[in-house]
Amino acid sequence: MTQSTRSLTQWLEELERFCAQAMSPASLLSPYDAARERQRIAVAASYGLTGIQVRLEHSGFGAPYSIKAQLAQRLAGIDFGVSMAIINSQNVADDVSRWLPASVSKRWVPGLLKGDQIGCTALTERAAGSDFSAITMRAVQTTDGWRLDGEKAWIINAKIADVFLVYAQTQPGAGAAGIAAFVVEAKREGFERSVDAFTSAAALSSTGGFRLQGYVALADEMLHAPGLAFKRALESINGARVYVAAMCVGMLQESLRLAQAYGQRRQTFGQNLEQHQGWRWLLADAAVDLEAASALVDCAAHAIDEGRQSQDLAAKAKVFATRAAQRHLPALLHAMGAEGLRDSYPLMRHVAAAQVATLVDGSTEMLLERISKNLKI
Ligand SMILES: Cc1cc2nc3c(=O)[nH]c(=O)nc-3n(C[C@H](O)[C@H](O)[C@H](O)COP(=O)(O)OP(=O)(O)OC[C@H]3O[C@@H](n4cnc5c(N)ncnc54)[C@H](O)[C@@H]3O)c2cc1C
Repeated sequence: MTQSTRSLTQWLEELERFCAQAMSPASLLSPYDAARERQRIAVAASYGLTGIQVRLEHSGFGAPYSIKAQLAQRLAGIDFGVSMAIINSQNVADDVSRWLPASVSKRWVPGLLKGDQIGCTALTERAAGSDFSAITMRAVQTTDGWRLDGEKAWIINAKIADVFLVYAQTQPGAGAAGIAAFVVEAKREGFERSVDAFTSAAALSSTGGFRLQGYVALADEMLHAPGLAFKRALESINGARVYVAAMCVGMLQESLRLAQAYGQRRQTFGQNLEQHQGWRWLLADAAVDLEAASALVDCAAHAIDEGRQSQDLAAKAKVFATRAAQRHLPALLHAMGAEGLRDSYPLMRHVAAAQVATLVDGSTEMLLERISKNLKI
């Protein structure tokens, strides 16, 4: 296991400070503002959140995966979109520093750690989501490097990012074997953000698309060669499944806490809500699945840290936690009556986020497919 220079307690203290500074309800609820979302990631960087897992020799914290999952969980309790935005940018710093020589990765890693630059990872296209091997973003080798042409959609941070990890096909018809990955800079010729609206959920509104037209990635900007990129993408998606599951745990935990607190002060028929058995059972039901989801997330996160086989556990954790969130968040919202609909509570945002969680990094059906292939009873 990697040694972190910060204990979990220290991380959680930093996280509290970050949340107090940059996650006020007003900032989460006001209309989308790209500059504010960029600024929020810069503030997150000042608390170390953009370098959680980045290795010490690259000036990150080298923290174990389970710490990243716990921080993602806490952040998502307040806002899933902010949690995804920060974790996705930190993942780019981690991937670039892990897979490229320091002489190349130093072009981006310091900026990503400082939050001067923001990262995102782009696999999905309008016509290729679950079927990642069907992507058509084209990479053609030239004398300088690789010419990239095509379009990506539904990419977290795409509206504000500077550094894009882009997956592209080098040999049409070759499927997974032909896919390579490149580091792409938004500031260079041939890059254009597309107008892609996804505005219903605060910071997730930075999700968007982009087009590459005659973009030239230098030879040393290839992150993963053909034949390796698909495998590496699936490895990192495996990790992503666990923190998305952890985020669902965070949203459920916070919603349960809010509903319980409400039940202690709201009276109906001469009693606090929590004194009505029928009402209490809604919360008890959520508590059962919360505990189980949390245990599955812990098992999967520790399997990753210990280098054990984690694909099956990661898939199970995500299926279970996203379903628990989809089932219980609306129930907890309902338990708060009209009050739960107020913008000052995160429950409405959490309900939308739970739906997003069932799609990103492997939809429920894709995960069930994976689990069914590993079934050993
Ligand atoms: C807010 C948001 C952020 C995202 N961020 C990123 C990002 O940062 N980077 C990135 O690369 N992508 C990102 N995505 C894309 C996400 O990974 C895809 O939405 C996901 O892979 C599903 O692809 P799709 O939406 O095209 O659905 P499709 O693949 O078209 O599937 C549609 C439905 O059919 C089901 N389905 C598909 N095939 C089968 C089958 N064989 N058997 C049974 N059911 C099937 C799916 O489970 C799904 O329910 C994001 C998506 C959203 C909504």
